[in-house]
Amino acid sequence: MGLAADNIRSLTEQLPAGVSLVAVSKTYPAETIAEAYAAGQRIFGESRPLEMRDKYEALPKDIEWHMIGHLQTNKVKYIVPFVSLIHSADSRRLIEAVDACAARCGRTVDVLLEVHVAAEESKSGWEPSELVSYVESGEWRKLRNVRFRGVMGIATNTDDIGRIRADFEALARIKSELGAYFDQTFDTLSMGMSDDYEIAIECGSTMVRIGSRIFGARTYR
Ligand SMILES: *Cc1c(COP(=O)(O)O)cnc(C)c1O
Repeated sequence: MGLAADNIRSLTEQLPAGVSLVAVSKTYPAETIAEAYAAGQRIFGESRPLEMRDKYEALPKDIEWHMIGHLQTNKVKYIVPFVSLIHSADSRRLIEAVDACAARCGRTVDVLLEVHVAAEESKSGWEPSELVSYVESGEWRKLRNVRFRGVMGIATNTDDIGRIRADFEALARIKSELGAYFDQTFDTLSMGMSDDYEIAIECGSTMVRIGSRIFGARTYR
């Protein structure tokens, strides 16, 4: 067994009950995922639709595939037939496209509302005030084939632990505020990555998305 399997085992032991682990396998080949699978990991996160579809086709069918990267509406069709959770639902248009595609597939797709809390403008997600308006409007209630499961966010990329903590606290607050509009299945707070997941857990994360700490540094093509 290789390093990824060892890292999966030690992380799984370390995470408190109620916090699930998304192994972020973007850029890594199917063989590496198979090794983590053999160590018991079943949830994998990807950020590119076609890459995720190819891996879905190549790997065991009891894997839960999570889309964590920005999703364009014209790419929704590649993943809706099998995806377990879309973390990156960041606009009304995208959510409506997922709903329409899911209806055609006869599926209901779970989504998280991605919220922009980081200092960087480049990061994606709803601005909190726009998200609150969208949810308050209730227009999402007409959607039959998406189920809103909670909130996802990325903290500022900084060494300032106070700032990271403030971002996670903001996400937890938004999740709790929005919870009033949904039923008890709005239960997921996806926050925390390799460098900040311990802080995220202290702030109430229920799902951490960890890549490099499992698989090593990525090389982007
Ligand atoms: C790549 C990525 C991760 C994992 O990042 P690591 O620092 O490698 O753990 C988590 N969440 C999102 C949205 C990502 O794009």
